[in-house]
Amino acid sequence: MKIAILSRNENLYSTRRLKEAGEARGHEVDVIDTLHCYMDITSSNPTVRYYGEELPAYDAVIPRIGASVTFYGTAVVRQFEMMGTFCVNESVAISRSRDKLRSLQLLSRKGVGLPRTGFANRPDKIKDLIKNVGGAPLVVKLLEGTQGIGVVLADTNKVAESVIEAFMGLKANILVQEFIKEAGGADIRCFVVGSRVVAAMKRQGAEGDFRSNLHRGGSAEVIRLSKEERATAVNAAKIMGLNVCGVDILQSNNGPVVMEVNSSPGLEGIETATDKDVAGLIFEFIEKSAKPNNNKTRGKG
Ligand code: ADP
Repeated sequence: MKIAILSRNENLYSTRRLKEAGEARGHEVDVIDTLHCYMDITSSNPTVRYYGEELPAYDAVIPRIGASVTFYGTAVVRQFEMMGTFCVNESVAISRSRDKLRSLQLLSRKGVGLPRTGFANRPDKIKDLIKNVGGAPLVVKLLEGTQGIGVVLADTNKVAESVIEAFMGLKANILVQEFIKEAGGADIRCFVVGSRVVAAMKRQGAEGDFRSNLHRGGSAEVIRLSKEERATAVNAAKIMGLNVCGVDILQSNNGPVVMEVNSSPGLEGIETATDKDVAGLIFEFIEKSAKPNNNKTRGKG
């Protein structure tokens, strides 16, 4: 098959591994820089142009759209969908996953376990908001934050109030969430491909940090998921409409709760921790699923 990886940087571990795994399975794999794609969106025969030439017809596209290029990146993916190209994750699903509130609302509507979460826009609502999610200790999160930056643990209601007030003063969008203390500074990354969790790891925060992000010095080890954890991850991926994603789960006293669903999950941490060929498994999924015009949305929505 002829497959394109949409990625800003061909030297990233995940991009390199995908190219390598695809080629090892006999595919022709091109890495295309998302921001260098351009297109005539009014043409009745949609195409994508790249460095002065029309891109060839691909059997499948693997979008690796970073959070900072979501807007342009999803437009490029949408164009491929209009062309009938099979996209591993569709543009609508990627946009959905980038909006934390929208994602949590969708998951909540379908009954997926979540930490109690609230949000407000006005400082005069803070006290009631805090009360409403169960009071301190609470986690306050910047909606635009990644890699654990902008995630604050507030031990008391007073601290929660001032942190929320400070963020609101800066016009930052935030959410306020019940602190799952019993998770013990660890979370579980479930790597979903198709309708299966193909690999899972437990990430433990560095000593004294409640955040388990590997970028913040956390460590990872392979974990055997419970049936309920596995089902929660698969269900969350399905609700989000993502074929390939990372579902982050906290182990709470009330069972697994989903923190986030990531539409461009990194491969380095999970492949290293589990010793699995996750990139190869993504291609196995493509081999089974990539047929022309097999998009759910065809660029609509
Ligand atoms: P980011 O998307 O920036 O990584 P997360 O929402 O994933 O932010 O939070 C970073 C880390 O903080 C998580 O991996 C988890 O270990 C910890 N964490 C986040 N929310 C909670 C919570 N409600 N209760 C307990 N720990 C949490």
